[in-house]
Amino acid sequence: MFKEFIRINEPSIGDEEVKAVEEVLRSGVLTDKSGMGPKVTEFEKMFSQFVGAKYAVAVSSGTAALHAALMAIGVGPGDEVIVPSFTFVATAEAVLLTGAKPIFADIDETTYCVSPESVEENLTRRTKAVIPVDLYGHPADIDAIKELVEGKDIFVIEDAAQSLGASYKGKNVGSVATITCFSLYASKNMTTGEGGVVTTDDEYYAQLLKRIRCHGEDRPYSVVTLGHNYRMTEIQAAIGVVQLKKLPKMQEARRKNAETITEALSKVEDLALPQVSPDVQHAWHLYTVRLKKANAARRNKLVEKLRSKRISAAVYYETPVHLLQYYREMFKSDRNMLRRTEKTSRQVLSLPVHQNLTPEEIEYMTQSLIKIL
Ligand SMILES: *Cc1c(COP(=O)(O)O)cnc(C)c1O
Repeated sequence: MFKEFIRINEPSIGDEEVKAVEEVLRSGVLTDKSGMGPKVTEFEKMFSQFVGAKYAVAVSSGTAALHAALMAIGVGPGDEVIVPSFTFVATAEAVLLTGAKPIFADIDETTYCVSPESVEENLTRRTKAVIPVDLYGHPADIDAIKELVEGKDIFVIEDAAQSLGASYKGKNVGSVATITCFSLYASKNMTTGEGGVVTTDDEYYAQLLKRIRCHGEDRPYSVVTLGHNYRMTEIQAAIGVVQLKKLPKMQEARRKNAETITEALSKVEDLALPQVSPDVQHAWHLYTVRLKKANAARRNKLVEKLRSKRISAAVYYETPVHLLQYYREMFKSDRNMLRRTEKTSRQVLSLPVHQNLTPEEIEYMTQSLIKIL
């Protein structure tokens, strides 16, 4: 038994982050009125190089990244945006914030990402964008979705909040879709506390995103579009610079941990382990297993038992977005059946796979799970 809870995710914050923050605090430059202070600029440059995109625009959160991206492509009232329901609420929320309507598509049961077939079924004249989500860190099949919308005036915005460090067909996530949105929230693979980044190869969208980030200004008091205050602070960016340097090592630890967990659990019947498509590298944000024959009650019981053993297994996402109260009421009249999403939400649970796990903790966690089952 371990004294401490084995947490589902935890940030790795050390002396270097503390020092970087202290330097910013002592410099007196906490933020920049145009959103382009020295630390933010340094962080954006590093980030764009890391993912292999021409431009990175740092913002205040992953949700801000999604909302700003939708504003940049001109999504608004009357438009539809296809999103998975099996995701964090922010994906759909960002669509509603623009006045457009989220249309929920079903998932692929092997990757848990949105199914291109379901996206296709939901395309209409009003579809303005599709937001595939790289769930648990597994890149969504962006090429299949790009193919569906080819020649149409429909954008693909990748919600990569969970997949920083992943790759798709040899390209880093962040350089695959027209626009990619990342989150740097405390539980993500790297963090600035709160924070987000939008990446793109398109100079027009990069410029526009910078304006939207700062009240629609192209220079002080020259407001040329509708914007917001979505600036990242210098403090956040300073943490980001240090975290991004650590990221490759942290990712390598996640990958190794996933391998060890897979080995330990590979013989457990009734347990579907994460499937990795042949042409991708998983970011291993979460290690999600599925109890193939379980209902929600049995799955929840397993989660409780693991938690009683101080292993913080968790369910992402117990309630798909279309069944959350506000969304259920708003979309009452829609009869979109999301059978695979609903079934999956009753059967999955996620295990810690983060960079700070020790081999002893992994052994304890996997053996506990096997014993309980
Ligand atoms: C975390 C997350 C977001 C939102 O990011 P925040 O930084 O918390 O605003 C959006 N989409 C997904 C899939 C996420 O996991």
